[in-house]
Amino acid sequence: MRPYISGDRCEKCKECVDTCPYEVFADMNGEIVVARPEDCIECTACAESCPHDAISMGD
Ligand code: SF4
Ligand code: SF4
Repeated sequence: MRPYISGDRCEKCKECVDTCPYEVFADMNGEIVVARPEDCIECTACAESCPHDAISMGD
């Protein structure tokens, strides 16, 4: 599993960037992207931390 960001819902608050212990997310010139999905350990902390319910876990 890995996280996916809904571009429609994401408000670019960077909470997920700060929350993930494995630096899976990155701020790329203001766009929040799933930069290193292979490093995800499926802890789901990012999905729980997102204030806009923009992160889902999938294959
Ligand atoms: S925590 Fe949610 S709203 Fe904030 S940058 Fe991450 S995906 Fe976007
Ligand atoms: S599930 Fe955990 S390890 Fe994976 S991206 Fe989210 S916070 Fe990072």
